[in-house]
Amino acid sequence: MDHAAPLITTVVAALGLAFILALIATRLRIPAIAGYLLAGVILGPFTPGFIADVNLAQQLAEIGVILLMFGVGLHFSLRDLMEVRAIAVPGAVVQIAAATAMGWGVARWFGWDDVAGIVFGLALSVASTVVLLRALQDRHMLETERGHIAVGWLIVEDLATVLALVLLPTLPQLVNGESDPSGSSVGVTLLLTLGRVAAFSALMLVVGRRLIPMLLHFVAFLGNRELFRLAVLAIALGTAYGAALLFDVSFALGAFFAGMVLAESELSQQAAQETLPLRDAFAVLFFVSVGMLFNPSVLVDDPIGVVAVLAIVVLGKSLAAFVIVVAFRYPIATALTISVSLAQIGEFSFILAALGVELGLLPQRGHDLLLAGSILSIMLNPLLFAILDRMKESPALPSITPDTQLPPPEEEAAAPKRDGFAIVVGYGRVGRTVVEGLQEHGMPFVIIEEGEELAAEARALGFHVIVGNAVNRGVIRQAGLSRARWLLVGIPHAFEAARVVIHARAERADLHIIARAHSDAEAEHLRTLGASRVIMAEREVAIAMLDDVLAGPGPSAPVPRAHG
Ligand code: AMP
Repeated sequence: MDHAAPLITTVVAALGLAFILALIATRLRIPAIAGYLLAGVILGPFTPGFIADVNLAQQLAEIGVILLMFGVGLHFSLRDLMEVRAIAVPGAVVQIAAATAMGWGVARWFGWDDVAGIVFGLALSVASTVVLLRALQDRHMLETERGHIAVGWLIVEDLATVLALVLLPTLPQLVNGESDPSGSSVGVTLLLTLGRVAAFSALMLVVGRRLIPMLLHFVAFLGNRELFRLAVLAIALGTAYGAALLFDVSFALGAFFAGMVLAESELSQQAAQETLPLRDAFAVLFFVSVGMLFNPSVLVDDPIGVVAVLAIVVLGKSLAAFVIVVAFRYPIATALTISVSLAQIGEFSFILAALGVELGLLPQRGHDLLLAGSILSIMLNPLLFAILDRMKESPALPSITPDTQLPPPEEEAAAPKRDGFAIVVGYGRVGRTVVEGLQEHGMPFVIIEEGEELAAEARALGFHVIVGNAVNRGVIRQAGLSRARWLLVGIPHAFEAARVVIHARAERADLHIIARAHSDAEAEHLRTLGASRVIMAEREVAIAMLDDVLAGPGPSAPVPRAHG
C-alpha cells in the first residue's frame, strides 16, 4: 500500500500521528509543536516501525514555507521593509558573523578544519522561517514593530543563505586563499547571484506589482469564490516556483515578494484568509518533516556536541541579537522578542548542512549535530516565549514592558476602582462599538484584546486594556473577573467564546454574561454553558433589515426595482 501511494501514505501518516501526539501534548500543557516533531521522529527512518517518505515530506514542508511567507508578504509593504532596513541588515549580518565565529570555534575544538567550521557556523546562524513566523503569528506580533524587524531580519538571513549556498562549492579556495583559476570565479558567482536577486526583485516590483493585483482584481470581479481561491494559490505557488526556477532564489523569498506586491491591494486580507487552512496544515507537515530527519542516537553518542550546538543557537545567537538591537536604542522588550524569535535553527540549516556533507566539506557528525540542535531548539522555543511573556507581565520588570504599553497590567492597576464594571472581550468590530456606547453612558469597563495593535489603539484612547487571550483564566482574572458585573464576550470564534464562558461561570455564579454567536446551535451551546444572554449576530442583522423595510422607504431612499 505504502509503495502504491507514497504521497497519500505520507500525508495521512504525518497528519494523523501529528494530530494524536499534539492532542496528548496539549492535554499535558506542552506546546503542540513537540507533538508534531515527535510524530516526525516516529515516522522517520531512525526509529523502528513504519517509515514515511522523507523526501516527499520535505517537499510538502516546502509548500508550508511558501504559504507562510506569502501570508507574511501580504501584511508587509515595501515601506515596512524599508523602515526596518536600518536595523535588520546590520543586525542579521552581525548575528550571522557572531554565530559563524562561535560555530567555527566549536568546530576547531572538535578538531575539524576551517572550512568545516565555517559551514557549521553558517548553518548555525540562520533561523527557521516557519518557527519564527508561527511564533509571531500565535502572539499577534507580525504587525508590530518588533514583528517587522524580525521578519526583515529573517529576509536578510534568507538572502545570506542563498549566497552561502552558491558560494559553498568555492569555499575551500576562498578559505585557503587559492586565487587562480577559481579566485575570479568566486567574484563572478557572487555577482551573478546578487544580480539574479536584484533582477527578480526589480521584476516583481515593476511588473509584478501591477500585474498580480490586476489579475486578482479581475478574478474577484467575476464573483466566483472558488476561482479567487485558486488564483491566490496559483499566484503564491507559481511565483515562488518561478523565482526558484528562473532566478535561483529561495521559494520563501519568491513567495514573500508575491505577497508583498499584493499587500497594497484591498484584496490582500481576503487573499490571506483564503490560504489560512492550507497554510496551517502544511506548517504541521513542516514540523513532522524536521522530526523525520532527526536521529535520536546522537543524543547518547555525542551529548557534549549537542549541548555545544544548543548553547550557540539558544544562548550565543540570542545574546548577539540582543546586544545589537539594544545598541540600536530599541526598547529591551523589542530586543528580547527578536532574540527569542531567532533562537532556533531549521530548514536553511538542513539545506546548508546537507550540501556541506555532499561536497565533502562538513563531516556527517556536523550534519547530525545540526539536526539535533534544530529539533531541540524548536522544542525549546515556545518555552522561551512563555518565559518572555511572564517577564513582561512581571511588575518587577517594568523597564521591559513593550513599546506601546502603559503600566504593568496588575489586577488592581487594570480594573477600574469602582465595582460594577464590564469586561469587554475583543476590541474588533463588535467590542469597539460596545465600548463606544459604554463610554458615552459613563460606564466603566476593561477590555481584553489579544491583538497587540488593537490593544495599543485602545490604550492610546486611555482605556484599560489587558493584552492576551481571554481563554486563559489568568487573563480574565487580571481584568477583574471577581468584581465585574458584566462580561461581554464579543469574539467570533464559538470554541473560544465557550471556554471564556465556562471559566467565568465557574468563578462567578452571579455574573451577567452576554455572548456573541453566529448560529442557533452556537447560541444554544453558549447558553447551556452559562451565558445569561446570547446575541445571534446574523439574526440581529435580519431583524434590523426587516425593521427598515417595515418602517417603509423614506422619501430620500428610493427602492430600486428588482430585476426580472
Ligand atoms: P470582530 O470580529 O471584528 O468583532 O473582532 C474580534 C476581536 O476579538 C479581534 O480584534 C480579535 O483579536 C479579538 N479576539 C478574538 N479572540 C479573542 C480571545 N480569545 N481573547 C481576546 N481577544 C480575542
